[in-house]
Amino acid sequence: MAKYLIVTGGVVSSLGKGITAASIGRLLINRGLSIRMLKLDPYLNVDPGTMSPYQHGEVYVTDDGAETDLDLGHYERYTGQPTSQKSNITAGSVYWNVLHKERHGDYLGGTVQMIPHISNEIKERIRSLESENPDVILIELGGTVGDIEGLIFLEALRQLGTDVGRDNAMYIHLTYVPYIKAASEVKTKPTQQSVAKLREIGILPHILVCRTEVDLTDEHIEKLSLFCNVPKECVIVEKDVETSIYEIPLVLAEQGVDEQILNHFRIARPTKPLKDWQKLISVIKKPKGTVKIGVVGKYSELQDAYKSIYEALYHGGYAAEYKVEIVKIAAEEIEENPDVLKTVSGILIPGGFGSRGMEGKIRAAQYARENNIPFLGICLGMQCAVIEFARNVCGLTGAHTTEFDEERGEKTEHPVVCLMEEQQDVTEKGGTMRLGACPCDLKKGTKAFEAYGEKKISERHRHRYEVNNRYCEQFEEKGLILSGRNPDIGVVEMIELPGHPWYVATQAHPELKSQPVLPHPLFRDFVAASINHGS
Ligand code: GLN
Repeated sequence: MAKYLIVTGGVVSSLGKGITAASIGRLLINRGLSIRMLKLDPYLNVDPGTMSPYQHGEVYVTDDGAETDLDLGHYERYTGQPTSQKSNITAGSVYWNVLHKERHGDYLGGTVQMIPHISNEIKERIRSLESENPDVILIELGGTVGDIEGLIFLEALRQLGTDVGRDNAMYIHLTYVPYIKAASEVKTKPTQQSVAKLREIGILPHILVCRTEVDLTDEHIEKLSLFCNVPKECVIVEKDVETSIYEIPLVLAEQGVDEQILNHFRIARPTKPLKDWQKLISVIKKPKGTVKIGVVGKYSELQDAYKSIYEALYHGGYAAEYKVEIVKIAAEEIEENPDVLKTVSGILIPGGFGSRGMEGKIRAAQYARENNIPFLGICLGMQCAVIEFARNVCGLTGAHTTEFDEERGEKTEHPVVCLMEEQQDVTEKGGTMRLGACPCDLKKGTKAFEAYGEKKISERHRHRYEVNNRYCEQFEEKGLILSGRNPDIGVVEMIELPGHPWYVATQAHPELKSQPVLPHPLFRDFVAASINHGS
């Protein structure tokens, strides 16, 4: 039977609960256990697919096409274990299901209530992962203990512990232990109160993970242990790391978190050093050099809007033992003047929706092409590269994507990027989002093929618009290489430029599959080309 490991957060948000949960996941995998991870989000949106990056950061897409919370990105990056539709449960989707069942008469005239109907729905959705037979199901609850909307989730998690038996459930509470400068003192009181709040609901945490900016003394640990009713060896200190968030698995392993978990579940597995992670951290701490990569986006002022892109770039750097310095460039800024691009050794245009900054991105693609600067276009980034090539190489004045026709109040004369139903020679129709894993066949002898090292690949998608097949002949005549095609629906998946050091673009989101210990081949080769260009 699956064991349940439940991670809650206290005192404040933004403590890095996702990273801590993912790091624990890594430790369990390292002990030879199979795991599934899932995130409970107490907000009322059905999924984060329609939420603004200002509100929610990036939308992370799974192989099976779910639009999910970005914490799932941490889970995959740290554990290498793919997530799925089942890995993200929002309050909105829970209420939605229950209300549908109510309208359908499934409750046979009964009064529909928070307990048991909502709590049961949450538990059923969690427990559906048992059919995949993992050793451990690791659950992260979003938000902070004490949030009104999180209450029913805590209740469901409490019940879950009773349902599966106390030996099969373990609760980990991530908390904040502040250092008050004026008093030169570490304060344990917020943690005591947060644990008291959990106990009020009936959850008794087994492990405390204390986020802190300073070292905690034995005295602090004893105090936390006494007041929070947690054995001393289960009070774990997660101090801010100096170099990289990828140090966290090592920090937790050093304090024996995995040992405590295995003891609780009465599972015996030998300890194993995290060799690949130790190597990774030594590379991160002593890079051979630094390379500057410009990311030309719409949300450059936000930390999380391009989370997976930034991480994948760092991973590409690790492969070359280099530090990637990301230069966040607002696309609108370079509409007038692309000179800021002179300072970078590689240019990346990420995915996006909406026309703001579009001309700046197209300008950046042109700059990279004309000045032989390594370039990686992702989704909208590839569409920008195609539009630029159509306008400036094929002479198709006014070439554009039909995505912004309405916003611009005009119909583009050369719709080089459009919806599938707006073009011919494509076997499938449909104007809805292409979501999740899609196959792609690569042309031999291309940079794409060289990177992946195989002909048949699969990457995740999240977009509506495609390169218009009607223009492909013209593009190829003028030298554009269509290096990847979808074998099922015939659309262009990847392009590149010959005679350029490295100019590759993809309709997919390869950044979603990159891991620090297994950098994505496109990011690896793009960063390597950028290092070459800069030296
Ligand atoms: N807006 C574009 C489309 O829908 C690109 C989407 C993206 O970059 N994810 O096709």
